[in-house]
Amino acid sequence: MLKPINQPLCCGALNACRNLQVKLTHWLCDPAIGAGDINVNNLTSPHVPSQIEANWLWDFLQKIDAGKTLLERAQTIADMPVTDKQQLSNWIISVSNLASQFQQLPPPIWPITRPAIPDRAWEAFKELMLAFYKKAFRSGLPYLADGTPVATGGVNYAQFVDAFRNAHRLKPDPNAREVCVVCGGPLGQTPEVDHWIAESAYPLLSVCADNLLPSCGDCNSTSNKGPKPVHSDGTFTDWFHPYFCHPNDSIRLVYDLQTHSITATATSPSEMVKVNNLDKLFNLSERWTREFKAEYSRQQEVLLKRERRRINNSQARHTQAEVLAHLQNVQDDLLQNEPHFEVHSVLCSAMLEKSRLAAWQTELGLVS
Ligand SMILES: [Zn+2]
Repeated sequence: MLKPINQPLCCGALNACRNLQVKLTHWLCDPAIGAGDINVNNLTSPHVPSQIEANWLWDFLQKIDAGKTLLERAQTIADMPVTDKQQLSNWIISVSNLASQFQQLPPPIWPITRPAIPDRAWEAFKELMLAFYKKAFRSGLPYLADGTPVATGGVNYAQFVDAFRNAHRLKPDPNAREVCVVCGGPLGQTPEVDHWIAESAYPLLSVCADNLLPSCGDCNSTSNKGPKPVHSDGTFTDWFHPYFCHPNDSIRLVYDLQTHSITATATSPSEMVKVNNLDKLFNLSERWTREFKAEYSRQQEVLLKRERRRINNSQARHTQAEVLAHLQNVQDDLLQNEPHFEVHSVLCSAMLEKSRLAAWQTELGLVS
């Protein structure tokens, strides 16, 4: 998380949707409710805050996913025994209270396992909650950006991603390259949306504004973060969080000239564990090292090309002072709002080290 991260304004819609998911599940877990009670007439306040949301929810429940309606999933939950309903309700309360993990001391217990309900009921709950993301969010939530219920034209996935991108553009020019807030590399044409806490284990957080983080495809790939846990057995204290515990400027990139490698380290010892966990989660040191080496190789090629041109034109070879001046120009020309600014800055410092300058001369064949 090299760059500042803020929630886009349309998060009001996502927060309202998460509340709707919580209210629906609590209603389904009400001991007085059975499968036969889930009908359009019973979807009213206080189970659903407004008529617009009730109408939308009823339409949503008619949607088919993997050959079954979402209503059938809701009915499975409503038909659970009372003790199972209590288990799921308690789990929902703990998970929906995610913010308190970072804001309360000591934080409440975070459930590290799913509620102890039968597989069939858990799958039904999971599929229903994930459909809020896969189906509802893609086509449009029943809310305006500020969370006001709306029958049509509510916030959708594409609008959320656009809003996030616009809020995190480092350059106002729409044609400029965008930067991933996590790794500082290029965001790419089609950023992905990471569920910070894996939605497969915590499906209630499928459309939670505090849990969605647009990032580059590399960061979100299964070989890097993927669905890995972002807590240590339910304890979040050793972990950063994009919205509740941002590293700010506590991550420092250090290079090793011998191995041409970069290591992520912390500006303060108290943040070291968090930085290490973040590094392992995203393989940042390894990825930054790859970029460091690639850019080093490019700079080397540029200088070799210039050197060859001079030889072909029977001009005097580069002196060490000229190599130094060139590298200083490269450093001066670095743009903070371009991808990989941090890695390239470290590379420039490395290239300008005295010992490295001498090595450049050997690599360019300036000394025999
Ligand atoms: Zn990234």
